[in-house]
Amino acid sequence: MKPKTFGKGWSGILITLHADLHTHTLASGHAYSTIKEMADAAREKNLELIASTDHGTAMEGACHRLYFWNLVAYPRKIGGVTVLRGIEANVLNIDAGLDADERLLSRLDWVIASLHEVIAPPLSPAAHTELYLRLADNPLVDMIGHPETVAYPFDYERVIREFGVKGKIVEINNYHAFHQSPKCAQNCEEIARLCMKHGVSVAVNSDAHICQRVGETDLALAMLERIDFPEELVLNASAERVLAHIRKKRPDFT
Ligand SMILES: [Zn+2]
Ligand SMILES: [Zn+2]
Repeated sequence: MKPKTFGKGWSGILITLHADLHTHTLASGHAYSTIKEMADAAREKNLELIASTDHGTAMEGACHRLYFWNLVAYPRKIGGVTVLRGIEANVLNIDAGLDADERLLSRLDWVIASLHEVIAPPLSPAAHTELYLRLADNPLVDMIGHPETVAYPFDYERVIREFGVKGKIVEINNYHAFHQSPKCAQNCEEIARLCMKHGVSVAVNSDAHICQRVGETDLALAMLERIDFPEELVLNASAERVLAHIRKKRPDFT
């Protein structure tokens, strides 16, 4: 099947995505599709893989711990699309504590850690920097969710470099960065440029809360193409690249 190209209007090399590593189902409490609908939508957009990453337990309306514990019930492929069993864990405090314990996180394929204002009230830029540096030290976290959020400024240069050292994937979140405010988009570009400077891998995701939005990454890709972001640093430009990342952490992943 011919992969869909989301990028547009740029004369250089287009980045083609084969996976969406941040998606929500009904289980998040404020999202609207089943996992079957999400996987079917991904296949229609020629994606090979999605990560199902419902909100962690601290989010109002989210499922309890057992939901995530039992994600092994998902078949590896749904509707022909590989489905990673994941979570968007909430960062709870300055110590970078998450709303999921280590036993649970180590069972999952893909762990996003994100700050949300309804759960972790913003602190000072210095405190956010400290928090993100601690998050970088957590070996169970795969990706840092929507770090461009305006409410949580931090020392981008110092922290992004550290994310690279610790092997964290930095998210370029199409919804958060490009549908909130111009400042979010500006922050996202600054972060992307620092990832490029320090050789840090990113993942470009939809953060879809309904199946029609799966794979919607056009604005994020347009920005990356405009700044000449290297394709090899985009983790989800290849499903194999995503699986290789997971196997580094979990060699028994099948
Ligand atoms: Zn989020
Ligand atoms: Zn999300």
